[in-house]
Amino acid sequence: MQEQVAIIVGAGTSGLAIAACQSQQSIPYIILEREDCIASIWKKYSYDRLHLHLAKELCELPYMSFPASYPKYVPKNMFTQYLDDYVSHFKISPMYQRNVESAEYNEVSKRWFVKARNASSGEVGIYCAKFLVVATGETTNPYIPEVEGLNTFTGEVLHSTQFKSGKDFKNKNVLVVGSGNFGMEIALDLANHGAKTSIIIRSPIHILSREMMDFARILVKYLKPSLLDSLVVMLSKLVYGDLTKYGIRRPTEGPFYMKRMYGKYPLIDVGTCKKIKSGEIQVLPAEILNIRGNDIIFKNGKSHPFDTIVFCTGFKRSTNLWLKGDDYLLNEDGLAKPNNPNHWKGKNGLYCVGLLQRGFYGASTEAQNIANDIKSIM
Ligand SMILES: Cc1cc2nc3c(=O)[nH]c(=O)nc-3n(C[C@H](O)[C@H](O)[C@H](O)COP(=O)(O)OP(=O)(O)OC[C@H]3O[C@@H](n4cnc5c(N)ncnc54)[C@H](O)[C@@H]3O)c2cc1C
Repeated sequence: MQEQVAIIVGAGTSGLAIAACQSQQSIPYIILEREDCIASIWKKYSYDRLHLHLAKELCELPYMSFPASYPKYVPKNMFTQYLDDYVSHFKISPMYQRNVESAEYNEVSKRWFVKARNASSGEVGIYCAKFLVVATGETTNPYIPEVEGLNTFTGEVLHSTQFKSGKDFKNKNVLVVGSGNFGMEIALDLANHGAKTSIIIRSPIHILSREMMDFARILVKYLKPSLLDSLVVMLSKLVYGDLTKYGIRRPTEGPFYMKRMYGKYPLIDVGTCKKIKSGEIQVLPAEILNIRGNDIIFKNGKSHPFDTIVFCTGFKRSTNLWLKGDDYLLNEDGLAKPNNPNHWKGKNGLYCVGLLQRGFYGASTEAQNIANDIKSIM
């Protein structure tokens, strides 16, 4: 077992950001990553039409800007190219296919002991370090809810991470379950490719445009958060109107309050609303009761036949399954506790990045704070 100064778990964008910050401060580290590539959510587990939702200046990782030629909303392939360049520039070499199964602090040696299974050999390696940085993201393990009769469904069942493009679904009846950003954009892609698309939208949601997000970004420096929320909701009402007749309700709490408090993102609409209004995407307001063959029966008593179901039902966080002694830092969902003033810093040299301020911008700021903190006590 080799002793390290710092172990980073996860080579998503947050892991890369902290790696670059540590390099800049000459803090040695290793990265353990369970996949065979960096940023797997972008490289392997997302659909083709994906663009960054926020303007590019909000999505840069520390110490390296996007090339000037990049468009304002960077497409997935350009973003992954930027990440590859980032890795080369900062000479980041994650140890791939290392699934961390446990991490525990030893009070006697004052070190973190991390066990990671090598996916190709099956061997478990033990690594120890003074500092442990958790960068395992919110999108860890794909989650599909239990639905009675799902095993009898005669069509195709996908999780959003398996969906690439709507082009394979022309004229098919497709049900999208889940109305987060993944669900809404996948529904749009399906409709654009001629699929007969339905989406279940149960909970109230805030729908904002990219322009509203830009506007909010400028005003955030000048307005109280509650005022900003009210203003953005007013704009959303002006632009999108009353959506209740399409089965979409707005929450009573503001969009940025909800993001801050519960990590719930507003929907950044890139065209789905227009398709809902035109009837090209049908909103189904009720949950699935059960499935019989290719018929899906809903809790409001209606039933419809479908060829495909795409579950955009998110992910189950898993940090709390392997990280011992994290309760000061993380809540039971594996998210950083918002009330901790330095929410990225736990006890005994434990840190987390990307588990509260979850966009690239927030994670980059956290990464810089963490590297400064480690440097000051290493
Ligand atoms: C459609 C969409 C558009 C988005 N657009 C934007 C945008 O425009 N701007 C923005 O700022 N944010 C955007 N986001 C959010 C952004 O993608 C996430 O905030 C970001 O990917 C999180 O990165 P991360 O490194 O924290 O987590 P992840 O990307 O999930 O990386 C975590 C890594 O940890 C690894 N890992 C997990 N568990 C283990 C383990 N036990 N052992 C070893 N490795 C492990 C995983 O394999 C993964 O590589 C968007 C998200 C989506 C879904």
